[in-house]
Amino acid sequence: MDAISEKKILSMDVEKRTFALLNDKKRTMGALGNHILVEFMRCDPHVLNDVSSIERDMVEAARKAGATVINSTFHHFSPYGVSGVVVIEESHLAIHTWPEYGYAAVDLFTCGEMDAWISFDFLKEAFRSDSYSAIEMKRGSKNLLKRIDFDISSSRQKADEWVNPGMYTRNVWFTDKDEFQALSLRYTGEVYHDVTTAYQRVRILESPKYGKFLALDDMVMTTENDEFHYHEMISHPAIFAHGNVKNVLVIGGGDGGTVREVLRHSGIEKVTMVEIDGEVIKACKQHLPDIAAAFDDPRLELIVGDGISFAEQATHSSYDLIIVDGSDPVGPAEGLFSVGFYNNCYKALKPDGILVAQGESPKFNEAAFTDLHDTIEGLFGKGNAYVSLFYVPTYPTGMWSFQVGTKASATDFGHIDAAEVEAFVQAKGLKYYNSSIHTASLALPNFVRQLLQRK
Ligand code: SAM
Repeated sequence: MDAISEKKILSMDVEKRTFALLNDKKRTMGALGNHILVEFMRCDPHVLNDVSSIERDMVEAARKAGATVINSTFHHFSPYGVSGVVVIEESHLAIHTWPEYGYAAVDLFTCGEMDAWISFDFLKEAFRSDSYSAIEMKRGSKNLLKRIDFDISSSRQKADEWVNPGMYTRNVWFTDKDEFQALSLRYTGEVYHDVTTAYQRVRILESPKYGKFLALDDMVMTTENDEFHYHEMISHPAIFAHGNVKNVLVIGGGDGGTVREVLRHSGIEKVTMVEIDGEVIKACKQHLPDIAAAFDDPRLELIVGDGISFAEQATHSSYDLIIVDGSDPVGPAEGLFSVGFYNNCYKALKPDGILVAQGESPKFNEAAFTDLHDTIEGLFGKGNAYVSLFYVPTYPTGMWSFQVGTKASATDFGHIDAAEVEAFVQAKGLKYYNSSIHTASLALPNFVRQLLQRK
């Protein structure tokens, strides 16, 4: 039977479907289950490779047909392809995708009254399939089966224990990787925010271990449970090393964690934040309110714009502290690793100003790490360029850095008033930064020293 006639049958079958259902009902009385085998072809390959949206759509397809979802498990194969099953009280929906062929094999197996053709229609739209075929068959013909007497009560009691509609055992992972290594976070599969802007894909997902997190493209930016590592270390060390910060420029930092920490200091008079992507701010205000907690502070001027051109036009000698809280050197943030940009930042700093920049890792994006050090050393002078190492469990390798330049050679970034720092730490309840960590973060392992000395 070739595809044409099958298609014709399908539409005819579609017509007959209601009729068939009636028949089916009579026939269903004769069969334990109904199995629709579907070939979805010419689908959107990106949709067929997105495990969380496929899971969401398969669960929704079941719900649309009135099914009760018990749990679901989905797996993303590397480099592509997804397999998964949604277990429903009425049996199961299963799928395996071949994105490279734009093809998905779907099984809609149901027993009882559920009309799985409703799920078929929903998935056809969700996968943007414009060519498909389906065969419906009865499974478990009662004419061929003989019922066995068995103690229903004990098995029903067991089944009730198992039915736990709230709990989804989803095996979905978010992976931030380069060609040699990766960091994967298991997440719940819930997608709280998913918008692709002119600059990047902005998502808010949730990890059972780290809470909700912001992902830009395929990079973890910040999570509820370890964001303080990063935001305390990008802000407080420079403010205490300088000793009299009043006017601050933050470039990037759309999640709001950096300005939140900076504005904890009562001596700060003005913070100008320049974030290129307003969608990041919106998503974090809505879903990460504890991180995006200081956006209403009257000392904050929030500008949605490109930090590179802002630095270019910035008034010379106007900032005590410039913090570059940018993402990795790709897309909009690539220029935040350029010599030209840091040259403009240098000019915008007051004579005793300090620059702090998100510096990548000596173990991840090593080239960006060493190049940035060379740039800062080149601009601020050999003795005025510092590397502060700290740990963020949800960044690839966990070892991360801030790179620092002090414009006045008299400024010793390692020199702080420990008592003043400890009093602030206690008063503000800081969870990472303290006077010992300040010093320790500047103590570099030998391999990092060699990496930075190697020209
Ligand atoms: N902690 C993160 C990290 O280490 O990768 C950085 C967090 S923060 C969310 C990075 C922000 O920099 C993003 O919101 C991104 O939109 C912003 N950004 C990237 N390029 C930018 C540019 N040229 N000007 C201003 N903001 C930029």
